[in-house]
Formats: sequence, C-alpha cells, structure tokens
Amino acid sequence: MAGESMKVALVTGASRGIGRAIAAGLAEAGCDVAIVDLPSQSALLAEVAQDIEAAGRRAYLQPMDVSDPESVQRAVDAVLREAGRIDILVNNAGILVPSPLQDLTVDSWDRHFDVNARGVLLACQAVLPQMRARKSGRIINIASIAGRQGVATQGHYAATKATVITLTRVLAQEVGMDGITVNAICPGIILTEMGKNNLGSEEAIRHWENVAALKRLGNPEDIVGPVRFFTSDESAFVTGQSLNVCGGIYFH
Ligand code: NAP
Repeated sequence: MAGESMKVALVTGASRGIGRAIAAGLAEAGCDVAIVDLPSQSALLAEVAQDIEAAGRRAYLQPMDVSDPESVQRAVDAVLREAGRIDILVNNAGILVPSPLQDLTVDSWDRHFDVNARGVLLACQAVLPQMRARKSGRIINIASIAGRQGVATQGHYAATKATVITLTRVLAQEVGMDGITVNAICPGIILTEMGKNNLGSEEAIRHWENVAALKRLGNPEDIVGPVRFFTSDESAFVTGQSLNVCGGIYFH
C-alpha cells in the first residue's frame, strides 16, 4: 500500500492461523489493526498485538463471537470509538468439524452456518454504515475451495463457504455505488490447526502435496499477499470476485 494513507483494518478470528498471519501482514503493509476473536483466545490475541506493535502500528483488541449479533456490534462500536474508522474488514473466523452428511447433526449444521455464514453477514452489517458514509471500504471474505467443489465429510462446511461466495457477489452489487469493494479468497489446504486436523495424517499431507501443481501445501502467509491486493488501490476495479489461493489443486 505504498503511497496510500494509513488505514484501519479489522480481522476476525485473528488469534491464530490464517487470521493471525493476515493481521500481521496488514500491519506490515501500514495498517492499524483491530484483532478480534472469541473471549477464550485473549492471551493469543495479546501476542498478535505485540507483532502488530513491533511493526510500528496500533493494535485494538476486542472479544467478538461472530455468530452473536450483540457481540459483533459491541466489538465494532468499541473499535470505532477507539480507532475512529474501519476501512478494511477481513471476515476470517471459521470452523470445520468434519462429518459425513448421513451422520451430521442439526446442531453441527446450524453451528457451522452460525459462524461461517451468519458471522460474515453480521460483521459486514456492523461495519458498512461508516464505510458508506465515507464512500470507501474494502471487505475481504475468507471462503474456501470447498465452497466451489465440496468434498466428502465437509458437505455442511462447503455449503457455508458456497454461501460466503454468493454473499460476496451480492454484497458487491449492493455497495459498489458507495465506493466499497467486496471480494473473497478461497484458500486450498493451509497448514493451520484447522488444516492439519482436517488432513489427519502425514500420508494425507503427502498425497495432497503431490496433487498440488506447486507440489506443496499452503502456509498462512500464502494468503497474506492476495488479501493485501484486495485491500490496495491495485484492485480498485475488482469486486464480487472469489480468488482461489490453493497452489494449484483446484482450477475453476
Ligand atoms: P483456525 O486455525 O481454526 O483459526 C480460526 C480462528 O477463528 C480461531 O482463532 C477460532 O477461535 C476463531 N473462531 C472460531 N469461531 C469463532 C467465532 N464464533 N467468533 C470469532 N472467532 C471464531 O483456522 P484457519 O485454518 O486459520 O482458518 C481461517 C479461515 O480460513 C476460516 O474461515 C477457514 O474456514 C478458512 N479456510 C481454511 C483452510 C485451511 O486449510 N486451513 C482452507 C480453506 C479455508 P477458536 O480457536 O477459539 O475456535
């Protein structure tokens, strides 16, 4: 973002994994960063704040359960009071508890939609009024290639991520006239706690490394550049799009 004025970003699920890397990466790019996650993650969030401050930027910490409307509004209001604005929203928080559809409980179906889909909607609704008032803003949703392809034992998760891709397309059309872009990133297999739990074994890791065109799986840092692209002036004319960032394991 060289040459662009300082921005405030808010990253959900920022205590670990992809969210943590995005928070640090946006700080390195010159943003002050509001980092939010479940209250149970406050110790880890404090570590992320140190990384942001080491990059010379301000960190704003707030507890936020993205599935809870009151919690989302409370956290966004607190960030706006302190930071004055939120220019960039990165909807990263997400859960995946695999199950074949035959055995999936209603509770698990609902919880995945509450966090992965409703959470995106609620955070967007909370930040949009001040973005619209300023006629500028960037929203980046972390979806998944699962939302395009679907994979066994992830039917419910894939359905939430397909929803995120659709919300991205629709919201882009609803807020474009206010100078706001909305784009999604579809990571492939990224070696976070979620990614490793999902793969389950070293053998599965080797298999997917071999499938990938680039012959490796992803690190959280692999998602940072594409996020920065969508936050920067370089992507000013890109909206409603979903970009696969997967090392070449999925091509549509
Ligand atoms: P992760 O390591 O499990 O991190 C997810 C973070 O979100 C955790 O800090 C988690 O907190 C937080 N979170 C969960 N529920 C929340 C809620 N209700 N409110 C606020 N925060 C909540 O996962 P990751 O691999 O970094 O994934 C980040 C995003 O990328 C997710 O949306 C995921 O679906 C997507 N993605 C990941 C992969 C992959 O291979 N890793 C691939 C495609 C897409 P707790 O630890 O307390 O649950």
